[in-house]
Amino acid sequence: MLAVNRISKSYPTPRGPLTVLSEVSFSLAPGDAAAIMGPSGSGKSSLLYILGGLEPPSSGTVTLDGRNPFELDPDALAAFRNRSIGFVFQDHCLLPQCTVLENVLVPTLVAPARGDADRARALLDRVGLSDRSDHRPAELSGGERQRVALARSLAPRPRLLLLDEPLANLDISSEQGIVSVLARLARAEGIAVLLSAHDMNPLMPVMDRIVYVAAGRVAVGTADEVVQPEVLSGLYGQHVDVIRVHGRVLVVAAPEGIDAAEAAAEDLGVIR
Ligand code: ADP
Ligand code: MG
Repeated sequence: MLAVNRISKSYPTPRGPLTVLSEVSFSLAPGDAAAIMGPSGSGKSSLLYILGGLEPPSSGTVTLDGRNPFELDPDALAAFRNRSIGFVFQDHCLLPQCTVLENVLVPTLVAPARGDADRARALLDRVGLSDRSDHRPAELSGGERQRVALARSLAPRPRLLLLDEPLANLDISSEQGIVSVLARLARAEGIAVLLSAHDMNPLMPVMDRIVYVAAGRVAVGTADEVVQPEVLSGLYGQHVDVIRVHGRVLVVAAPEGIDAAEAAAEDLGVIR
């Protein structure tokens, strides 16, 4: 359904072009929930903007249901984005003066259809907010506001839902709530969901696919396939350890020129 074929992205800078993504390829099927992970500044937002038709790649192609948004004229591109792609930005931009239900109905104002209000209520039910539909955003917690933004993005029945750092600024239980709602929605609505995050821990158990971005390169697979020292060392271009402790995973790069085990031994004062 979504096919990403060898896309690269460079930005011009005073010191020459900065390549943030190099020959990235992967595909998603309806019902797939995938996470784009990687350190800050690795290109997660850039990738989401390209997939959302908001920013063209420097090279390569993206197709959604066989159509390449960047081949469309500006009006057709805008219509395609509105109809086929849901985007939840880091700042959820809810209208403070409107109720939760009214916020979810905002996208349907462009082309109102019969049944919009019923669908909005069903979506609020899906995200666990049916009892809050008459509240204003200011009366909700951060996690609840995020779920309103999620319901709103689904109102136009997109095929692809993109979320940029939806877990930022949430407490752990809200994080887990959002992640499981997203995975369930992907399956129930038959859409592909792709979100970015810098902490992989809340996502690894739930996501079907991980797209790990680092140093311009990308590794794609299940969490078990990608979050491996050999794979991540290849991506970062330096030795990386994957440490599993108390049910959490930490990716730790060794300081340059020092083997990680040696560095850890030094930190612990181990004498060899
Ligand atoms: P992430 O979301 O993983 O933190 P971004 O995609 O936002 O990463 O940014 C990746 C890199 O590209 C960063 O070094 C950032 O400064 C740079 N960058 C992002 N957008 C632009 C732009 N429009 N012009 C120049 N550089 C940019
Ligand atoms: Mg970002």
